[in-house]
Amino acid sequence: MQNLFLTLKQLIQEASAASTATVRVQGIVSRVKSAMEVAVCSLYLSGEDDVLTLAATEGLNPESVGNISLKPGEGLVGWIARTHHPLNLKNASEDPHFLYFPETGEEIYKAFLGAPVVHGGKLVGVLVVEQKEKRKFTEEEESFLVTVAAHLGSTDPEDFKIGTTASDSSETHRNYRIRGIAGAPGVGIGRALLLPDAMDLMKVQDATATDIEHEMALFQKAVNSTLADLDASRDKISGIVSGDVGEIFTFYRMLLEGNELPGMVEKDIRSGKAASPSLRSAVIHFSSQFEAMEDEYLRARAEDIQNLGNRLYARLRNVEVPKIQSNEKVVLVGGLISITDIAEYPVEQLAGIVSMRGSALSHTAVLGKALGLPVVMGVAHGGELPDGELIIVDGFQGQIFVDPQPSVVDEFRRLIASESGLVKELSKLKELPAETVDGARIRLFANTGLLADISPGLTHGAEGIGLYRTEIPFIVHGSFPSEDEQVEVYRSVLKAYKGMPVYMRTLDIGGDKPLPYFPFEEENPALGWRGVRFTLDNSVIFMTQIRAMLRAAGDSNDLHITLPMIGSVPEVETFLRLLESALEQLNEEGFAVVRPKAGIMAEVPSAIAILPFLKGKIDFVSIGSNDLTQYLLAVDRNNPRVTNLYDHIHPATLQAIETILTHTRGMEIPVSVCGEMAADPCGATLLLGMGIDALSMSAFSIPRIKWLVRSVTRAEAVEQLSIAKQCPYPAEIRKQLREFLCSKGLERLFVPK
Ligand code: PEP
Ligand code: MG
Repeated sequence: MQNLFLTLKQLIQEASAASTATVRVQGIVSRVKSAMEVAVCSLYLSGEDDVLTLAATEGLNPESVGNISLKPGEGLVGWIARTHHPLNLKNASEDPHFLYFPETGEEIYKAFLGAPVVHGGKLVGVLVVEQKEKRKFTEEEESFLVTVAAHLGSTDPEDFKIGTTASDSSETHRNYRIRGIAGAPGVGIGRALLLPDAMDLMKVQDATATDIEHEMALFQKAVNSTLADLDASRDKISGIVSGDVGEIFTFYRMLLEGNELPGMVEKDIRSGKAASPSLRSAVIHFSSQFEAMEDEYLRARAEDIQNLGNRLYARLRNVEVPKIQSNEKVVLVGGLISITDIAEYPVEQLAGIVSMRGSALSHTAVLGKALGLPVVMGVAHGGELPDGELIIVDGFQGQIFVDPQPSVVDEFRRLIASESGLVKELSKLKELPAETVDGARIRLFANTGLLADISPGLTHGAEGIGLYRTEIPFIVHGSFPSEDEQVEVYRSVLKAYKGMPVYMRTLDIGGDKPLPYFPFEEENPALGWRGVRFTLDNSVIFMTQIRAMLRAAGDSNDLHITLPMIGSVPEVETFLRLLESALEQLNEEGFAVVRPKAGIMAEVPSAIAILPFLKGKIDFVSIGSNDLTQYLLAVDRNNPRVTNLYDHIHPATLQAIETILTHTRGMEIPVSVCGEMAADPCGATLLLGMGIDALSMSAFSIPRIKWLVRSVTRAEAVEQLSIAKQCPYPAEIRKQLREFLCSKGLERLFVPK
């Protein structure tokens, strides 16, 4: 056998680089066959009703691909599928489970080794090797095949689904689906308008500058015209969407006007490099700092830098964006679609956005949400999309359908009609209180972290900000932002929500959210120097932030300071001392400030037990169900390998939240939930049942949850909670809650699959 490690590595690399599922699965069987020096390698994939179909083979009759199917339990392959166990047989035909398919030409093979491919506990395929002579495969061979199967199981099963990529579909049925990441909800149908690769800075080759001054002038000109583009885009978007969504462009402006990025480009040009490769190096340098961060929100900021780089590059080369040629609606498709790209086109002509790279937290997604455009990001095989192709963008499920059949288009048109009906219907609720049928008043707040996210909250009827994540002003800076700079940002948030509570969380940085300009490494970052642990140790930074918050709030009573990652009483006490001294300092300096309300995030399990000791010290509790679930279940909330284990509808989380509520009642202080659980219809129902009266969520979810609140009674929610508490299976609890909510006419809260 060839070098195992090398083969595995090559196999994984080739599989991920394959352009279509057919190429991918064929490549896998062929590499395994040659590595193990066997006569046959075949891959069976599980489809509808768990039936296994031969998807690829090297050695068996190729015509049998797609034509051999086995139910679980049927034949040796079906037996492996049923038992989830490998099978190593000296002579397959002597085994009682052996089933013979003459069309495969399999009868001449005796030795048989098969391994199950399992993803998230579910069987997705069976990988088999065969040989002519009677012999048992060695332990080394068996372990190799099992390892390959485990690797296949660790990738997204969609990557192996034949027919999900362009070249897998037949000419007559081009109706194929490509999966991505849901960026902004909604469904849109239009023709693909491809943004050219010529705008992709990463494709630039190294080149030296023949005339340094000329290159400097070119770059300066590109910076100026990009700044002008940003202003024009900002004005345009601000004219369409009320509030401060246009602020999103300020973020780009800050990147461009700060000294860091342009300074680095100019330094490179001066050293003799041409402008474009200098720009590419600077963009790689700054974006990779963000890409290295574990926190997905911060990681998404790398896209902003890359987007800005592409825009500067287009300006350097005078590349114009393509024009829309007809009156038909278009779907913008490109490698990395930026907010300035979107602003180039009339919004009424856009049906949606498809970006091959990028995450759900990108500004492109934020802007899409604000404009009501469905957005799908990270579309793996999008490069194969032809210009002008009809595309359905399903921003709910994070998928697109290319060249769909008329029946599929009709189905989606029905969904669009029902969605726009729902959004319109729910907008009528804006001025109505979130009150249950039996009169329990629930306050609904918005979660936000960007200035650009502020106005959607107001448009959707938010009664304040339940969680303002202050990380952003810190990360866009090349160094810690000054007190004055922070005052300006916090003031604009408080001003937009004047007279309403604004819960501003102090810096939740460190560990998995390192600042690019303050690097440190830890073995176990989720349990390390994070949130308040970091700020208490860096009291100068902390003091500056507290002072900035107090100054921004002035003499209003709207400010609520929330402390993240609290796990012990001394942490709160130290903060309170800092708060007192900040108030004293500011009073002495002549600022009109008042003592704000101060509270904690309940998101570290140890915070629960210390709550009674915090009586009289804190004014509120905000439950961070995301981290609380992560730490209670010991499941990393960002690790796709364990997503199937991560669910806030888990008895441990439900019990913990009930205990928190018992404590806060005893302490006579208000409590809210600001993690994702608040926006989940099932989660929100259980929280209502527990007696919660404040929920904070993304702006988009507010009308939906208000609809839910106004459709049920607290008593019903209490009953649902008591049924849920009898059940240890999150999936079953969800089923029960879904049935209940559907019985209340709320099925449209559950986006159709
Ligand atoms: C949480 O942990 O639930 C929370 C709201 O905070 P974040 O998601 O920012 O960690
Ligand atoms: Mg948290």
